[in-house]
Amino acid sequence: MHLRKRILVTGGAGFLGSFLCERLLNENCDVICVDNFYTGTKRNIVHLLNNPYFELQRHDITFPLYLEVDQIYNLACPASPIHYQNDPVQTTKVNVHGSINMLGLAKRLKATILQASTSEVYGDPTVHPQTEAYWGNVNTIGPRSCYDEGKRCAETLFFDYYRQHGTKIKVARIFNTYGPRMHPNDGRVISNFIMQALTDRDITVYGDGKQTRSFCYVKDLVDALIRMMNSPEDVTGPINIGNPGEYTILELAEKIVQMTGSKSNIVFEPLPQDDPLQRQPDITLAERHLGWKPTTGLDEGLQRTVTYFKELIVKENG
Ligand code: NAD
Ligand code: UDP
Repeated sequence: MHLRKRILVTGGAGFLGSFLCERLLNENCDVICVDNFYTGTKRNIVHLLNNPYFELQRHDITFPLYLEVDQIYNLACPASPIHYQNDPVQTTKVNVHGSINMLGLAKRLKATILQASTSEVYGDPTVHPQTEAYWGNVNTIGPRSCYDEGKRCAETLFFDYYRQHGTKIKVARIFNTYGPRMHPNDGRVISNFIMQALTDRDITVYGDGKQTRSFCYVKDLVDALIRMMNSPEDVTGPINIGNPGEYTILELAEKIVQMTGSKSNIVFEPLPQDDPLQRQPDITLAERHLGWKPTTGLDEGLQRTVTYFKELIVKENG
């Protein structure tokens, strides 16, 4: 008889995973964090290591894993373009072999498993905003394909385990999320712009900056994942999780310069191949099935993120 829910978080030492572990511990769960530290870091979870209900296991989920839990959050996968393109074969592997291993574990344990899928399954979308019914517009052979097609195949595997084995699945399609503990050099737009602004370096806008993204604060995102995990069994998703506020990248750059009082100049650099032109989630299903919508506006979330990066810079400079 287990009084506390036992929960596995793969990729638990990453940006999103570390907040999820923290929140689950606060909700009196037993948390096992599995991570191979490919992009995650001990710094993200060091404050949890003394908690007797937190366990850290170094493991690569492309290899089988044997343990006993009630729920699995499958977050293991590098998320930023420079990281997932650094070893594209491993990126596909973690999504395909890793998902098969975690689904096999869920099947044996009759545990519920939640997949951290992504808005990248929509590719460069021709439907705007994106609803879950849209099948996407994805290049199969480009530099982003290892991630986009890897995540699409993971969704396929989740739904095949559901239909073939009755595995209890949840598929969350996460849109761009930001906040403290983002990797300062991960090349993602918010971490890049804030680090550039705080160190008075040029702010590098790719293309003409008219491409759009919608940014969700990490606390809102974690709230949605936990709601989804604990939703009724027939709520399998896919469900979009994101903040519908849509901004051009140039607007974001100007906002961060103004917020930080930076002396940085905004410069324009070439747009990376297959960079989606627009992205905005339709979150009707999340509101209906999870009773969720984000509550943190971009200004408030950016302020907290700027504070985090300021402290990081001070710490790293001794
Ligand atoms: P992150 O890179 O900070 O975290 C990923 C974690 O997975 C890291 O700790 C990394 O070390 C670990 N990992 C990678 N390969 C592994 C392996 N083979 N075995 C075990 N651990 C492994 O990224 P994040 O932003 O926290 O993203 C978490 C998840 O959410 C990812 O699956 C990502 O695709 C998804 N997601 C994130 C966003 C976002 O904006 N942050 C958007 C859409 C989807
Ligand atoms: N971007 C940018 N400058 C940067 C980093 C990113 O203009 O220094 C742009 C990038 O081309 C894309 C958007 O910001 O259009 C979001 O990029 P990110 O890598 O954060 O996420 P993704 O493209 O996966 O949504």
